[in-house]
Amino acid sequence: QLSKLPASQTTIFTKMSNLAHEHQAINLSQGFPDFPVDPQLIELVSNAMRAGKNQYSPMAGLIQLRERIAEKTAAAYGYTYHPETEITITSGATQAIFSCIAAFIHPQDEVIIFEPAYDCYEPSITLFGGKTIPIQLSYPNYTIDWKMVANSVTPKTRMIIINTPHNPSGTVWSQEDMAQLERLVADTNILILSDEVYEHIIFDNIAHQSVARYPNLASRSFIIGSFGKTFHITGWKTGYCLAPSELMKEFRKVHQYNVFSGNHPVQEAIARYLENPFHYLSLPQFYQQKRDLFLSLLEGSSFKMNPTSGTYFQLLDYTAVTEENDIIFAERLTKEHKIASIPISVFNTSKQDDKVLRFCFAKTDDTLKQAAEILQTI
Ligand code: PMP
Ligand code: GLN
Repeated sequence: QLSKLPASQTTIFTKMSNLAHEHQAINLSQGFPDFPVDPQLIELVSNAMRAGKNQYSPMAGLIQLRERIAEKTAAAYGYTYHPETEITITSGATQAIFSCIAAFIHPQDEVIIFEPAYDCYEPSITLFGGKTIPIQLSYPNYTIDWKMVANSVTPKTRMIIINTPHNPSGTVWSQEDMAQLERLVADTNILILSDEVYEHIIFDNIAHQSVARYPNLASRSFIIGSFGKTFHITGWKTGYCLAPSELMKEFRKVHQYNVFSGNHPVQEAIARYLENPFHYLSLPQFYQQKRDLFLSLLEGSSFKMNPTSGTYFQLLDYTAVTEENDIIFAERLTKEHKIASIPISVFNTSKQDDKVLRFCFAKTDDTLKQAAEILQTI
């Protein structure tokens, strides 16, 4: 067997973005903003480049950026990560997740994930010989059956991967979910990988449930963050990992051989930009306006929708439109109606198809209006 990932194909994000491009469709599939980056950030990066910050950054990342992240996390969740030993800057969240799984998953280890799940978890687990244990969640509420989770835990369970706010469903974990998780892992050696890349994109005044709020969870957790989401710079590929020092020591053993270090001028710029908390504290309001605009423009359409609670994705239920499966329907919408979205069944090992599509609303109001005009005709 040549392939280590025989079941993997080109990701749905690449597929749908390519299809959108080919058919000149409005692209609400892959999650990225279509509006410009804050000119101040561009200025900060160019300044850093002109100032000669063009060689390797320290392996764990620029200390001033790690300090800003420590302050921001402590202010939001009341848990202080030590910048020297408990914070590492990564080349995006994807690399942080990969390095974390590489560092801790041994052959035969079991890793519990909640599906529909973001697409990079399972292949990373598989590459290192781990076994993915999927727990299926379903439209419309995607609530977690904690009895089912408890029944899935075995002596081989090494890690549980959680993701709140959740891509693709837009649901968020409650305090009760966190309490359930805390009870479940007490007296075990289970590690938690907490994908919190959408921590600042959360609506209706809901408080983000970071594992950092729960010392009994934080002591066994990796928190993954991404500036791509927070500062509208997905192409700059800069994120971070937070973990207690003894876990971080192991993470860095992999990180140093995986990339060694992240983009230096970008780190310099983000460290400066983080000095103004408004740059991320304004995000809920900014994106809630877009969510509400998109939903109001879709009122009276054939699609059913529950307002998303977090992330910049909105699910639309198309059961009133067609019985086609979600992959076929998403392709047809792109080719015939010139609007691209993401089918959800690809995020389920079972291929369960709830007949919902994911639309990204990190777009200008104009793009959202054009998109809604099309969707109103379906
Ligand atoms: N996790 C989730 C849930 C995501 O949605 C994304 C990006 N779409 C990532 C991780 C990866 O983030 P990055 O682009 O920083 O690698
Ligand atoms: N995270 C983005 C999304 O969910 C896609 C990132 C990627 O293309 N890998 O749409």
